[in-house]
Amino acid sequence: MIFVFIIISLILINNKIAKINNKEIMQSNTSDKSNNESSKTMENDIAESDYIKVDEPIFTYQEIPENILEKMIGNSIPRESIDKVNIEELAYLNITYLGFDKESHIGEMIVNKNLAEEVIDIFKEVYMKKYPIEKIRLIDEYGADDEKSMEDNNTSAFCYRDISNTNNLSNHAKGCAIDINPLYNPYVVKTFVSPTNAAKYVDRTIAEKGIIQKGDDLYNAFIKRNWTWGGEWKNPKDYQHFEKSY
Ligand SMILES: [Zn+2]
Repeated sequence: MIFVFIIISLILINNKIAKINNKEIMQSNTSDKSNNESSKTMENDIAESDYIKVDEPIFTYQEIPENILEKMIGNSIPRESIDKVNIEELAYLNITYLGFDKESHIGEMIVNKNLAEEVIDIFKEVYMKKYPIEKIRLIDEYGADDEKSMEDNNTSAFCYRDISNTNNLSNHAKGCAIDINPLYNPYVVKTFVSPTNAAKYVDRTIAEKGIIQKGDDLYNAFIKRNWTWGGEWKNPKDYQHFEKSY
């Protein structure tokens, strides 16, 4: 029995180590040459990647790997819309972020390729400023159900979908919008709050980590690069949402 337990433990440890894969990828082309890790990425394992803590920060982007694309089709890329999505215009990012547990984690994100380098720079800055983000997972982990992803306070970007409660295509559908800590930064139209478990956070004076305020480090990282914050819209108020056209 003990022997079986040891074998299983060894398999689990091996799997974990296998995720740290020094595969060369398209470099994020930043000035940070001191960090060799920036030219490397991890083996793609969405399910557990959020829990892998890192010693050295990793910020990379590349074309969407085949195994990730397979997970996206039928989720963030609906089968009926597959012809409308320009997959070659999208990039897959690995981003190190400071979690609510004050540990570094590696997240995954899909954004428009034209914004990829800038998004990397934004999240590098956010990380260096120690701005907390609870989790950064692909929305495909939630079956591309935006409500579920928001309820879980998950930060995400690309999803081929309409703007909430409209028939207009969202900027998320082009990978040009990012929702940050969405439970703590809800989408509000009059009395409508999304996600539904975010009513408490309509009050923007709550002092809790991860709540976006005008002038904070996260806000500044986006705004100085000419992104727009939905928290400054009159109606709706979309406190989680940053977007940019290119
Ligand atoms: Zn959004």
